[in-house]
Amino acid sequence: MDQQTPHDDVVIIGAGIGGLTLALALRERGIAATILERTAELREVGAAVALSANANNLFARLGVLDALEEVSWAQTDLVFRDGRSGATLGRTPVGRGYRERFGSDYLGVHRADLQRILSEAVGPDRILLSHHVTGLHEDGDRVLLDLADGTQRSAGIVVGADGARSMVRQWVVGHDDAIYSGHSGFRGIIPTEQLTELPDPHAIQFWIGPTGHLLHYAMGGDGQDVNFLAVSRDPQEWTADQWVVPARDEDKFAPFAGWHPAVTQMLGAVEVTQRWALMRRPPLASWHRGRVVLLGDAAHALVPHHGQGANQAIEDTWALAEELATVGSGDPTAAFEAFEGRRRMRTRAVQFASAQVAEVLHLPDGPQADARNAAMAGADWFEDRLAWIHGYDPTVDRGIRPGSLSR
Ligand SMILES: Cc1cc2nc3c(=O)[nH]c(=O)nc-3n(C[C@H](O)[C@H](O)[C@H](O)COP(=O)(O)OP(=O)(O)OC[C@H]3O[C@@H](n4cnc5c(N)ncnc54)[C@H](O)[C@@H]3O)c2cc1C
Repeated sequence: MDQQTPHDDVVIIGAGIGGLTLALALRERGIAATILERTAELREVGAAVALSANANNLFARLGVLDALEEVSWAQTDLVFRDGRSGATLGRTPVGRGYRERFGSDYLGVHRADLQRILSEAVGPDRILLSHHVTGLHEDGDRVLLDLADGTQRSAGIVVGADGARSMVRQWVVGHDDAIYSGHSGFRGIIPTEQLTELPDPHAIQFWIGPTGHLLHYAMGGDGQDVNFLAVSRDPQEWTADQWVVPARDEDKFAPFAGWHPAVTQMLGAVEVTQRWALMRRPPLASWHRGRVVLLGDAAHALVPHHGQGANQAIEDTWALAEELATVGSGDPTAAFEAFEGRRRMRTRAVQFASAQVAEVLHLPDGPQADARNAAMAGADWFEDRLAWIHGYDPTVDRGIRPGSLSR
């Protein structure tokens, strides 16, 4: 086993968006963590990601925003449309006003580009690929990690950044608590030039209706690609092990039959073979057990309707790095609790709001949908509705500490 100094003794499980960003945030504070990643190469999960200012301002502080901006597209507008007629229900410019208000752009990026930039910044010597962690054991003031190849490692502090299907969460909670949201999705990436029917191809846009919605945004340095996620209510029962199931290509059209040609052209432009269950996790009473703590989706996976899963994982990293920097080789429990205190209410609020979005977008035709449309028409979304998400500064400690509400 490697000889380790206390500050080299933090092991992060998972080189996803949260794990890689945490390694950078820890390094800022002189802590050289090691990441164990099960895959042999860093593969893209989810294909694309929209990064809002609440995350990008941290990337600026971690020195990776310039590289990221080169391969990302800054969204021009946020647009809501009636999925069937194509009528514009609401439009808020993003552009310079967003940057001035929140400090950085609203970016669309290929996930592979994001992972490459983050992993290059972390450095290959800190990321151990093909290290699949299969089990955890408490061993005094150490944690033993079983690996799939039969070897074992030891760590003083372990961070479970192993995503929505987290093995570490299961170890912390004691069982698999994934909940199917009632919605499933198809997704794809298409060269923008192929989307001849699409108005506003460089905007982030929701096409909405009673049977589902289609969300897309532009990405790549020249906005050359569009990423879409088509979501529909799906009564199929999903079990915790069925996150992605095989699907026939033609299935993707059924919820959007008769919708605007921009929607059907986009759906028809890629062959899909998989349907994604949109899962969420119930809030946990505690995100840690012993010397092990959860971060990102492992702690608070949410449905993607606000596009905030990755952004919340990135926000987490700042608070956890700041709190871990106070620990040294001592007991991390107080640092874990301070981290949770800083992040619990924020992530619960975003989880709850994300679930509500689908209910509002999928309202049946009638007075409630009419009222929603009227409200959309008048809104400046980044002033009225989304400032609490995009304008959040995770470097400010608003934490609720144990006992701080007792008087
Ligand atoms: C269809 C879809 C669209 C989405 N769109 C957006 C969006 O636009 N914006 C946004 O912010 N979020 C979006 N999300 C959510 C976002 O993908 C996640 O919230 C984000 O990736 C979470 O980051 P993470 O680091 O917690 O986990 P992940 O990025 O999932 O990383 C987990 C890592 O852990 C590794 N791992 C897992 N188990 C082990 C193990 N036992 N041992 C070692 N390594 C392991 C995995 O291989 C992976 O590399 C979307 C999600 C979906 C499903």
